[in-house]
Amino acid sequence: MRFVNNYENKIKEIVQEKKLTYCIDTMGCQMNENDSNKYMGILESMGFQKAPIEKANLILFNTCCIRENAENTLFGRLGFLKQRKEKEENVYIVVVGCMTQQKHILEKIKKSYRFVDVVLGTGSMRLFPEKLYKILCLKQKEIEYLEVGNEIEEEVPILYEDQYKASVSIIYGCNNFCSYCIVPYVRGRERSRKPEDILNDIRKLAQKGYKEIMLLGQNVNSYGNDFEEEYHFPDLLKEVEKIEGIEIIRFMSPHPKDFKDDLIEVIKNSKKIARQIHLPLQSGNTEILSKMNRKYSKEQFLDLALKLKQIPDISLSTDIIVGFPNETEEQFLDTLDVVKKVGFDQIYMFIYSKRNGTVAAKMEDKTSHEEKVERLERLKKLYEDMLPELNQKMIGKTYFVLVEGKSKNNDKLYTGRTSQNKVVIFSADDSYIGKIVPVKIDSEHLWYLKGSIVD
Ligand code: SF4
Repeated sequence: MRFVNNYENKIKEIVQEKKLTYCIDTMGCQMNENDSNKYMGILESMGFQKAPIEKANLILFNTCCIRENAENTLFGRLGFLKQRKEKEENVYIVVVGCMTQQKHILEKIKKSYRFVDVVLGTGSMRLFPEKLYKILCLKQKEIEYLEVGNEIEEEVPILYEDQYKASVSIIYGCNNFCSYCIVPYVRGRERSRKPEDILNDIRKLAQKGYKEIMLLGQNVNSYGNDFEEEYHFPDLLKEVEKIEGIEIIRFMSPHPKDFKDDLIEVIKNSKKIARQIHLPLQSGNTEILSKMNRKYSKEQFLDLALKLKQIPDISLSTDIIVGFPNETEEQFLDTLDVVKKVGFDQIYMFIYSKRNGTVAAKMEDKTSHEEKVERLERLKKLYEDMLPELNQKMIGKTYFVLVEGKSKNNDKLYTGRTSQNKVVIFSADDSYIGKIVPVKIDSEHLWYLKGSIVD
């Protein structure tokens, strides 16, 4: 479905007259960030200008419900805005994203946060201009429950903060129903975008000077499973590879159960696919993995990870959940064992967070919070102990780095990332920004590397 904004001119008039500004507060994953880029594109196409949250007229919260503290964060931030809403005219509050698909959240907003103007569900972006028109012009609040939008919305205006790196969604929703995860309930079933729509978006980005593309989906290697013809993620990658101007291709996230040999072959043969693969482990214990409904065992994960590690210069990153209901010490040791055997360059680690409505939420849990915290600390320590050795292997080698800009901590130095997604800091000047340059690694500093541009 093509995105059409029938309210653009009417809203533009009001925005110009009142000089309205906006601010977007994004919580959660890269899919949410990508949606926020679209909300930014829609708002700016109607004349809204960006402003800090304390001054913005329209404040849009793009919510996440993966972890419980995200709810507290949203309600805390809404609470802060109550006074502004009461005292000032022309303050509008919009809540979108995954949380809005949970009926208890909507009830709480209706009961305790009645100053919120619009609530919009996932996959319903095409309704945003109409909702805006109603609050700006008709002063009508729109807080109603909308079923998860299952349409694919194409040609939504989009703006990126970055000039050289952009993300492009290729598939929405998820069919996997991992027992701890709320995503399939709030983002609906898998819907793949047509290859030509994706490729056209990427060609346009390449024409604008973008060099690095991140292909996004809850499970990118399910791409195409809903097509009648045989066309899957490796086929799409081969097409993206042909686009002139795009020099680095990343993707997030693949599911280990769907990571087949044909995908590994495409990565191996590619000159553009980054030498960094995100492979979410979640747990290293087969019994816990089965309770998580992940559909792979410890051994299958290890086989896959070690096969990927044979690709020269590859780095692996992962997600790990510590303290799934009733996880025993022995089961946790399996997770540490996988971490030791694989050697991940990045680990996103979390304590299990109960999400109402999921299968795991009904499981009894005898593992105490203290045990879970202690395990997370041990995992963190193991990871930090292993990282210097992984980094040291890079010293003396030369990597191509996309120069992103000045370092935040030292404006005499510049920063960028290697294909392995390692942050590198080096001397350069503004003329290097946006270029891909060879950088020789001189030293490692746990979370970043230092290097020098090779002339
Ligand atoms: S693959 Fe599992 S963890 Fe990932 S979004 Fe789908 S259900 Fe959630």
